[in-house]
Amino acid sequence: MERATTTRHLSPETQPAGCAAATTQVPALNVPEAGTPMRVAFIGGHGRSGSTLLGRLLGSVDGVFSAGEVCYVWEQGVLRDWICSCGEPFSRCDFWQAVGQEAFGGWTTDVAERGLALRKLVDRNRYVPKLLAPGAFPGYARAEREYAQMYSAVHRGIARASGARVVVDTSKTPSTGYLLRRIPQVDLRVVHLVRDVHGVAYSWAKKVPRADRDGALMTRLSHRRTALEWTAFNALVEGLGLLGEPRLLLRYEDLVAAPETRLRDVLGFVGEGLLPAEPGLGFLEADTVTLARGHEVTGNPMRLQGGAIQLRLDQEWRRAMPRSQRRAITTAAAPGLVRYGYLGRSGVDR
Ligand SMILES: [Zn+2]
Repeated sequence: MERATTTRHLSPETQPAGCAAATTQVPALNVPEAGTPMRVAFIGGHGRSGSTLLGRLLGSVDGVFSAGEVCYVWEQGVLRDWICSCGEPFSRCDFWQAVGQEAFGGWTTDVAERGLALRKLVDRNRYVPKLLAPGAFPGYARAEREYAQMYSAVHRGIARASGARVVVDTSKTPSTGYLLRRIPQVDLRVVHLVRDVHGVAYSWAKKVPRADRDGALMTRLSHRRTALEWTAFNALVEGLGLLGEPRLLLRYEDLVAAPETRLRDVLGFVGEGLLPAEPGLGFLEADTVTLARGHEVTGNPMRLQGGAIQLRLDQEWRRAMPRSQRRAITTAAAPGLVRYGYLGRSGVDR
């Protein structure tokens, strides 16, 4: 099995692991009332699995809008004013300002600080058991209700500002999927994106400067931690399917090997009943994609690349990763490697 990536930077970005408790006062929010269902395609899985590429491919299709990692809008968008994929700082991006206007009557520091504090209290993988039955945890349930309302308002704003039938949220963190399923207006489709853990671990261990943040390095993780997280995160995303949420498993390597076929599979799933049966894919020709820069609020630096991008299988980890490290990762993540077809019958030598 080969690791797959584009010829340019493709590693999905890392995210800060927040843990502070919320202490801010609840600001008066202009949250829209519930309306018609919103189709949200949630890309779930582990970081550095190719979600930025998948989001951009989907967002290039008429009727689909890729919003990036929406769960980080509070901190990385509003508070830090980092760059949207259109190239403008968040505060000068017309699209995201329109979203804020729709959702809250405009972004404010109070709104963002409240959203961030609530996200840390609610939207974390360790809280998935509470997200399954918040009623058993009254304090948590209050925060969950408020955060779900705020997150729903953001998604409503994205849907209205974009006019899209399907909004793609590449947050990946499984708990965000569990939160989305609790929002009555959200018509959820879970795209479970999996990539060979060896490629994922190699990517997380590399030093990668971010072009979108003045060369600051992307967060790094040890191989061991990546292997454990990869196993846990993918199991949690599978759990969404067991709970009855529509889920489509997509291997990143398969997407790169046959982009048109796999992309049509995903579009048929996320766009069921809303998009044409055969959406136009004029941006895709064989193994080359030509992607316009959209308005993804956060994500891998690859979201900033315009022009033609050639997709190809990348075996760098095979060359660069010591054999002992490969074996340790294989051992730690063996059940998942077998489950997703990376190990076993294919006889792949690790
Ligand atoms: Zn923008």
